[in-house]
Amino acid sequence: MVECKEIFDLLSDLIEHELEHNQEDEILAHLLECENCFPYLHTFRKTVCLCKSIAPVEVPQEVHQEFWQIIKVEITSLPQSPGLKKSRKKS
Ligand SMILES: [Zn+2]
Repeated sequence: MVECKEIFDLLSDLIEHELEHNQEDEILAHLLECENCFPYLHTFRKTVCLCKSIAPVEVPQEVHQEFWQIIKVEITSLPQSPGLKKSRKKS
């Protein structure tokens, strides 16, 4: 069973399609069922739609970071927010 904090950790990988298909399915199922994560499904789907509807572009690293910072702030301001890891190291 996937936990909320794992979802948030894996969300960027999910958007970038860096996950195994069964892992993607598990996360999407959780997003649909979890009352903590559900509000973010809308944002997530919008993001994915936008990603699919535009040609790939080089996103400056700072824009990428800013985007995820905003997402993380939104997530942590949720009522009953699950504990998030402080940072995710990924090079
Ligand atoms: Zn959840």
